[in-house]
Amino acid sequence: MRVKNIKDADIKLLEYKDYYLEKSNEYKGKWKELFKNNNPIHLEIGMGKGKFLKESAKLNPNINYIGIEKSSTILLKAVRMISETKLKNIYLLNIDASNLLDYFASSEIAHIYLNFSDPWPKDRHAKRRLTAPSFLRKYQDILVNNGVIEIKTDNENLFNYSLETLEEAKFLIKEQSSNFDSKKRNIVETEYEQKFKESNKAIYYIKVVKMTAKKRMKLYEDLANLHGPSGDEGQVRDYLLKAYRAEADEILRDGLGSVFGMKKGKEGEPVIMIAGHMDEVGGMVTRLQENGFVKFINIGGVVPHVWVSQNVVIQTAKGKVKGVVGSVPPHMGAAGEITMESLFIDVGAESKKDLEKYGIKPGDFLTFENDYYVTKNKNRIVSKAWDNRFGTGMALEVFRELKNIEHPNTVICGATVQEEVGLRGAKTSSQMVKPDLFIAIDVSPVGDATPGPGDSFGKLNGGFLIRFYDPGNIMNPKMLEYVEGLAKKHKIDYQFFLSKGGTDAAIAQYAGSGCFSITIGLPGRYIHSNTSMIDVRDVEAVKAIVLEIIKDFSKERLLELKQWKYISLAKIKQK
Ligand code: SAH
Repeated sequence: MRVKNIKDADIKLLEYKDYYLEKSNEYKGKWKELFKNNNPIHLEIGMGKGKFLKESAKLNPNINYIGIEKSSTILLKAVRMISETKLKNIYLLNIDASNLLDYFASSEIAHIYLNFSDPWPKDRHAKRRLTAPSFLRKYQDILVNNGVIEIKTDNENLFNYSLETLEEAKFLIKEQSSNFDSKKRNIVETEYEQKFKESNKAIYYIKVVKMTAKKRMKLYEDLANLHGPSGDEGQVRDYLLKAYRAEADEILRDGLGSVFGMKKGKEGEPVIMIAGHMDEVGGMVTRLQENGFVKFINIGGVVPHVWVSQNVVIQTAKGKVKGVVGSVPPHMGAAGEITMESLFIDVGAESKKDLEKYGIKPGDFLTFENDYYVTKNKNRIVSKAWDNRFGTGMALEVFRELKNIEHPNTVICGATVQEEVGLRGAKTSSQMVKPDLFIAIDVSPVGDATPGPGDSFGKLNGGFLIRFYDPGNIMNPKMLEYVEGLAKKHKIDYQFFLSKGGTDAAIAQYAGSGCFSITIGLPGRYIHSNTSMIDVRDVEAVKAIVLEIIKDFSKERLLELKQWKYISLAKIKQK
């Protein structure tokens, strides 16, 4: 919108206190209080002179409207007009859309309009477009579940671009049109829309809905519900084989049970291997007692007190048997340290004979009874096996996305076995593949709820984790700089993370003569228990950075990243 700048427009705006809100983030999370009601809030980004907002607010007194506009001159024109209306359901902000998260909290907005607001129709400015992935992540955050975005533009190129980015960001496309007519639909026409129609220009229109976390994360729910402690990953493997076979040029399997799909890249270009581990922590039946109780050991690292009074499922040859890990009630003086030796599973049997009848045998595997649910927060989800059905699902999600991105690399995505008992599948499968870059995708315990000894790192909804150090793997400094640089460039949230544990990256670094091996982490709380919690917004950050790495990677990039090693080697030789 080309208009002559009005002198001191930002100061003149201050006269309109009933409608204009000075730049301030004091409204974040408090918009309902400001409007003094619980009505849904609709946001127009790049509202221009405010025709659409004003008429919509008049028509729909039960909807609250907020307009944002980056030009103070244009906003002044809007506020002058709107102040004549005495409407009570409108506020205006003089801000740029890139700062949305400073002004709006999670799930505060029901509806976003992008009406001809995008000033960046050219491809080379794609990152600045209001439908670029970094903007869509912000809309995802501030929108309620099932929240709507409506986009109108006169630009076909921008329309096609937006359809792609919206789909990639997991918005559900409800409607798209290349000859939209608001009048026919009883929707308020915007000022630009009128202009374009008068000059016979086609109006492009897209309507999308934010998927609920439940729906967006369905793949992960399915995976987390499967039984798959280390050494008994068959159910997960079958699921993955079917999924990868539908997409892959080739399936790769190691001798321990790890499975991967491969998409071939160009000759001579790098091989990127991306893996979650398909196993979860659990237990194994060791002894059937005469009194009908079942003794068991840990598979993977579970602290004994986590088991107490949990529901568990034993997977027998005859099917599932549910039981509970017995605890001592306070009436009987429960106290002191809990050891694995003192724990047992009560499946309701009255004798060893009963147990045998149910099909329970030493060597049977057991897991926690699953409890996958989306919390009231809507972004946070609890499950028994985020570690690491998350990485398993993300590797698959990334693999499915490969057809939509451009890059020269061979990409091998899949899942290893037996990570929790010593990175066993990663050893065999990385030796099989000998990648140039290995990316372990795993959940790491952040310290925002249960701080560990000393320093703790990370929080939920802080972005993906750059794991710069763990006892088994030190992130190559050049690689760290590279990943951080990509995150900054593409505005993906990230956090530095130090861990006292290890991931598959620790063993994959030995593949061939040694390779770049990193972990991209998802923040998780309470892992290695029945009740770990993650945040969907961090899931999006993990996905975004992994895709950006693939898109950016090439033999030139690999050489560049390796360069510092040669340089330091050369320096040593000079001495
Ligand atoms: N929505 C109105 C105006 C369209 S003109 C209509 O349909 O008639 C586009 C407006 O978007 C301009 O006033 C421009 O200043 C504003 N705009 C562009 N990018 C913006 C951004 N990043 N944040 C806020 N406003 C923006």
